[in-house]
Amino acid sequence: MERIGIFGGTFNPPHTGHIRAAVRGAEALGLDKVVLIPARQVPGKQMPEGSPTPEQRLEMVRLAAAPYPILEVSDLEVRAQGSSYTWQTLRTLGERYPGAELTLMVGSDRLLSLPEWKQAEEIVKTAAIAVVPRGGKQEKNLLLPGINALEEMGATVTTAETVPCEISSTQLRRLLAFRCASEFLDPAVEDYIRKNSLYHTVSDWNRLPMDRLEQVVIGLLNPNRVRHVLGCRDTAVELAKRWGADTEDAARAGMLHDVTKALDGPLQLTLCRAYGTLLDDFSKKYPKTLHALTGSLVAERIFGENKAVVSAIRHHTTGKADMNTLEAIIYVADYMEPNRDFPGVEELRKLAFSDLQAALKLGLEMTLVHLKNQGSEVSPESRQALEWLKGRGV
Ligand code: ATP
Repeated sequence: MERIGIFGGTFNPPHTGHIRAAVRGAEALGLDKVVLIPARQVPGKQMPEGSPTPEQRLEMVRLAAAPYPILEVSDLEVRAQGSSYTWQTLRTLGERYPGAELTLMVGSDRLLSLPEWKQAEEIVKTAAIAVVPRGGKQEKNLLLPGINALEEMGATVTTAETVPCEISSTQLRRLLAFRCASEFLDPAVEDYIRKNSLYHTVSDWNRLPMDRLEQVVIGLLNPNRVRHVLGCRDTAVELAKRWGADTEDAARAGMLHDVTKALDGPLQLTLCRAYGTLLDDFSKKYPKTLHALTGSLVAERIFGENKAVVSAIRHHTTGKADMNTLEAIIYVADYMEPNRDFPGVEELRKLAFSDLQAALKLGLEMTLVHLKNQGSEVSPESRQALEWLKGRGV
């Protein structure tokens, strides 16, 4: 009996995580082939603005699958009108491959929601379910309840024992915009993306006007960070007016200071590798602090920002010795913008308008206490910043 894996998704765009999951999953599960089925539209999933057409996504999946004889690509859902439902797709495939044993492959992130999919009872009757690990800290906690819930519905559930590859299309779209996505893309897909100017790969984001910059940056952030970034920009402008700094530079640095923050630690390292940036020991050990460095690289290379803006972004998390006014403004604005709420923030807000360097010192000292309480190391740059301020009698 032929054993066929079904692997659906938006594939916006298809990445090495998808392909590895399908190929290695097929090997681990003993499948004869896996059919990749890009959806025209996934129920309840909003396609981000500027996404390629369904036909373009289909073409990219074909290119990504081409080197692997075990993979087949179906246009079944792309040809359909509107949203496709998995139960319908499985029914059609059951008719197309009579007598075959169907296995629905899903990434671990989809497991918990599967019992709520339309006609879930029919889905688990028609196909076995195979969970493909995606990695991440939360995964272990999700797998067991997800599997239990499906088994209670009568499903046969197996886990494909594969090594997870943690990339997602959402993160990959950011890497594409930052021009450092090659690690996770088939070269033919990457070529297709460039030739068709998809995912902002050929956008000219050099010195964008503020309204457009705001729009572009919001598209690159995690949605829960947007208010903070806008608050930081507005606060930076107020501080620039107070301390005689360039308000345009302050606005641009505030807007861009967290532009790469949505990339997790390993992807921060991906960006540094792609840009040929050498890292110090502290950054290698704590890649989570790297967004200041990667943000400054992106501000310079992708957004064509000037040296003052780039430097303010570069030092906004740790500070450094000899900070100039704009650098101090972005550091302090990041700390005290209106969405921040912690004991001492009001004092910091007042101080920022009466004595900028004292506010900088207070921010650095509060960070040191926080890091100490967490048992984390303090970056050498923060220590040097405090030494420098103390040396000036601040
Ligand atoms: P997005 O970030 O846009 O939500 P995605 O990377 O999760 O996209 P989809 O096309 O929505 O990709 O996912 C299709 C299927 O592939 C889903 O079952 C998903 O869980 C699975 N999948 C996606 N990325 C990986 C990965 N890195 N490893 C294993 N499975 C994955």
